[in-house]
Amino acid sequence: MADQLRYDGKVVIVTGAGNGLGRQHALMFGARGAHVVVNDLGGNIHGGGKSSAAADKVVEEIKALGGKAVANYDSVEDGASIVKTAVDAFGTVDIVINNAGILRDTSFHKMTVDDWNLIVRVHLNGSFAVSHAAWPIMRDKGYGRIVMTTSAAGIYGNFGQANYSAAKLALVGLANTLAQEGRSKNVHVNTIAPIAGSRLTETVLPPELIEALKPEYVSPLVGWLCHEDCRETGGLFEVGAGYHAKLRWERTRGHSFKLGRGFGPDEVAKNWSKIVDFKDGEYPTNINESMAPLLTNMNSKSLGG
Ligand code: NAD
Repeated sequence: MADQLRYDGKVVIVTGAGNGLGRQHALMFGARGAHVVVNDLGGNIHGGGKSSAAADKVVEEIKALGGKAVANYDSVEDGASIVKTAVDAFGTVDIVINNAGILRDTSFHKMTVDDWNLIVRVHLNGSFAVSHAAWPIMRDKGYGRIVMTTSAAGIYGNFGQANYSAAKLALVGLANTLAQEGRSKNVHVNTIAPIAGSRLTETVLPPELIEALKPEYVSPLVGWLCHEDCRETGGLFEVGAGYHAKLRWERTRGHSFKLGRGFGPDEVAKNWSKIVDFKDGEYPTNINESMAPLLTNMNSKSLGG
């Protein structure tokens, strides 16, 4: 296709690209002219084991499509080595897709410290490590695209996934700040909450749903967010089965107590219906907008209001 969005010469790192969503992202970039680092530790879904086979297979698939790719078998916790693979093979890095992930699902009362730490290490520390190593390169060249992979479990919570939910929502916080720090350098950072049939979800979703939720329905959004024409940054998107939508914070109008007159739990209780009423809600997008009603209330006190 002559007019398709292309990534010719762009160097893309896709972590956890040996299976599922990451594999599909890697194939998409590879088929559209990018030079791809296919990172995958090659372990099982609980974080055990290690093998080069998963990454090697995807490298071969990309080459068969006429693309350029190299494998990297390090854990995402070793982000600097993954970025070094990109620089050694292709000279730079333009795009990072933080996708690698595992599960250690168990209800909170049964969760061990190891269950907690491993999930935080792979999802949060891993996305930090790869992004952190790529960041100075992107800043220096005035171009970069980073995608974080969160989950509905992080945004909404999910029984049995306290570790995973916490690590996944932490990525949204990381992306929110990186989007602000990267904006002036043309480094854009967005987050996707995908849903797709994969080995991570095949144990919890019925087979017909797994079949319908193809990973290739998620990759087009990743492709657009990473294209040089895309201006989006700091966005959070739900995506799967062809559905695409953006999320944002909504806040009630709230209620402000006049300062200087004192208020306690009784006044909070009396005004509860106003505090939680989303009618005419507002949508703060940054810390200044978040602080605005507090400042208004403080000023009304200093003005004797
Ligand atoms: P998957 O198991 O098919 O693929 C994940 C890949 O990551 C595997 O190939 C695995 O070997 C690799 N990996 C695991 N730990 C690694 C590490 N430390 N270093 C490098 N590679 C590592 O799973 P998937 O469903 O494609 O998931 C991809 C991402 O999407 C994950 O972050 C997951 O949490 C997220 N996600 C998936 C869904 C879904 O519906 N599939 C929903 C929400 C979020």
